[in-house]
Amino acid sequence: MSEELNPFEIAQRQLDEAAELLKLGPGMHAFLREPMRELHVSLPVRMDDGSVKVFKGFRVQYNDARGPAKGGLRFHPDETIDTVRALAAWMTWKTAVVDIPLGGGKGGVICNPKEMSQAELERVSRAYIRQVGPILGPKRDVPAPDVYTNPQIMAWMMDEFSAMQGHGEPGVITGKPLALGGSAGRMDATARGGMYCLREAAKILGMDLKGATAAIQGYGNAGYYAQVLGEELLGLNVVCVSDSKGAILREDGLECEQVKAQKDETGTCVGLSDAEIISNEELLELDVDVLIPAALENVITAENADRVKAKIVVELANGPTTPEADEILHKNGVYVIPDFLCNAGGVVVSYFEGVQNAYNYYWELEEVHDKLDKKMTAAFKAVHQTAEAKKVHNRLAAYLVGVARVAGAVTLRGWV
Ligand code: NAD
Repeated sequence: MSEELNPFEIAQRQLDEAAELLKLGPGMHAFLREPMRELHVSLPVRMDDGSVKVFKGFRVQYNDARGPAKGGLRFHPDETIDTVRALAAWMTWKTAVVDIPLGGGKGGVICNPKEMSQAELERVSRAYIRQVGPILGPKRDVPAPDVYTNPQIMAWMMDEFSAMQGHGEPGVITGKPLALGGSAGRMDATARGGMYCLREAAKILGMDLKGATAAIQGYGNAGYYAQVLGEELLGLNVVCVSDSKGAILREDGLECEQVKAQKDETGTCVGLSDAEIISNEELLELDVDVLIPAALENVITAENADRVKAKIVVELANGPTTPEADEILHKNGVYVIPDFLCNAGGVVVSYFEGVQNAYNYYWELEEVHDKLDKKMTAAFKAVHQTAEAKKVHNRLAAYLVGVARVAGAVTLRGWV
């Protein structure tokens, strides 16, 4: 039987396993298996050549028992409703595992930003908010950046929503530029949270990270800052990075500012001088200490999991490992820091951004780092202790912690 790669079916299977161990009743289990609400929209957008193109968009509010829905927006040509549902489910368990008072949501537009002008991107962003705006707001649902969306897009969306309300509403969206109510420390928060988890994992494994080799798949927000902070905070030696065009390898280490300059100039890190070009598949199987998937879903599968040589997998991407691959990695003694724990730093600082917007009072960078470290370390420990106590792998342990908290809130509200 071939491996199931539909992200939402994977998310449901993962939940099923947790539900059984948590002994959730059939009503609760059925409720947590599906999104509470989803909106599908059509966006007619005038393109620069005068033609009108109709884009499809989605917003899924998976569960808001613990607080307003929260989750990023993707602009991607391969976006599907099932990807958005899966990501919204993972956001629900993520906000619970780091114990912030928010629920889970996600959104996306099927489009290819690489083929669009800035003006077209702005019109798509504003059109999306005009359609989805009625179900958004700081007390309802708060989007944020994700794959191929960025602070500028958040700024246009916040502006459009504010215009619809007739007053400024910075708290409707997070990941905004600093000048428009963004939080200090949001840009690198996802990678920083992952590096705090890696630091804790290394303590448990008795591993010295200074000089440890690392490979990073994906060189966007999560991947780039993973290199910067992996070097700065932990002393990692990043030998391989990649993007959608391929991977580059240099055994004695890659200079991050050099890679960034090459990517900014040419749109890809591939082609950097003195670096060997390999494939994204080969990157995953390199003999490195730390492997950091920071691109898209389903890259570590039953087919290649046995060939992963890293001691620790730091999942900054959402859904990079399939359930079959999880079992193989666990059997092989690979320590996986699972996605919705590992990449929760982004949503934690997004939560801090919302709090600062509500107070209209802004924190220093050190305060953000300190509060993020406390949240991530506490979440890491809760997951690790559950994995030890229940003798399960880390992803299932993260599910046990997150799902139990959401189910608790659902019960207290009297919904099930
Ligand atoms: P991004 O758009 O900034 O970067 C994505 C990167 O992935 C780009 O470098 C792109 O070239 C690369 N890429 C695309 N397809 C690829 C492929 N097939 N193989 C290798 N590389 C490929 O996106 P991001 O915000 O860094 O998000 C990356 C991952 O991290 C996603 O899974 C996202 O859901 C997750 N994540 C991001 C945040 C955040 O705050 N940005 C938070 C939590 C999780």
